[in-house]
Amino acid sequence: TAFPADRTVILTGAASPRGIGRATAHFLAERGWHVGIVDLDDAAAKAVATEIAAEHGVQAAGAGANVADARQVRAAIDGLEAALPQLVALVNLAGVSSPVPYLDVTDDEWRRVLSINLDGVHHATRRAVESMVEHGVGRVVSLASVSAQRGGGTFSKTAYSAAKAGVIGFSRSVARELGPRGVTVNVVSPGPIDTDIMGGTLTDDRKAAMAADGVLPRIGTPRDIAAAIHYLISEDAGFVTGQTLNVDGGLYMH
Ligand code: NAD
Repeated sequence: TAFPADRTVILTGAASPRGIGRATAHFLAERGWHVGIVDLDDAAAKAVATEIAAEHGVQAAGAGANVADARQVRAAIDGLEAALPQLVALVNLAGVSSPVPYLDVTDDEWRRVLSINLDGVHHATRRAVESMVEHGVGRVVSLASVSAQRGGGTFSKTAYSAAKAGVIGFSRSVARELGPRGVTVNVVSPGPIDTDIMGGTLTDDRKAAMAADGVLPRIGTPRDIAAAIHYLISEDAGFVTGQTLNVDGGLYMH
């Protein structure tokens, strides 16, 4: 099924000022996508939507929800879908880091990280694909991490790596089931990207050390990731599904 002329992408986790999500929302709006934003804080999600509509002349709306809560996510996407043109794509970016070493991980920390980074992807995907299969067309892209591919070795540790590896298995499985219904499901797996997710620990020294570890000697930018997402949700990516695109400067090759 062809894309409609007016199409909406919903992004979770797109309200943080220097995050990948907000940069991606701008990148996609600039290329004609209408935009729905889901983030923890309702006012922040709406503020980003207002900024996007003003800057790019597309329709945009925001809604607050904790992605770990299936009911909140469903209500948020219900509202965005009612306010915006046909929902064609979902991008799951909402996530938290977890620098806790394995032997110090509490049950609470494990549940917190898995409930946001893995259950959250399931909740938003589940709601969004219900609409996509009705229209016979859809694109889902979720953010994993090089730490899922390499077993950590980055800022975040086991709980994060486990959740992000879960996102890869989840995406392949949904891809297999929903391919025949017109929905593609893929993953973008970033290396270290210059955002605030590492809570101010990403110093210039740390950036230089991480850059030295890769084939391309720099850390990534939100735009590097936005461009990969833009491709995977495009109409032209309709023969690509179940894939994990590593955008990590060559940190992980397989
Ligand atoms: P960020 O902290 O700037 O943005 C994360 C966003 O998710 C924020 O807007 C935050 O409010 C939102 N969020 C957090 N918990 C939420 C919840 N429970 N419900 C709804 N929204 C919630 O981080 P970022 O670096 O832009 O990360 C975006 C995605 O990319 C994450 O999934 C992250 O794991 C992944 N990633 C980032 C890097 C990196 O180096 N920055 C590397 C690999 C993967």
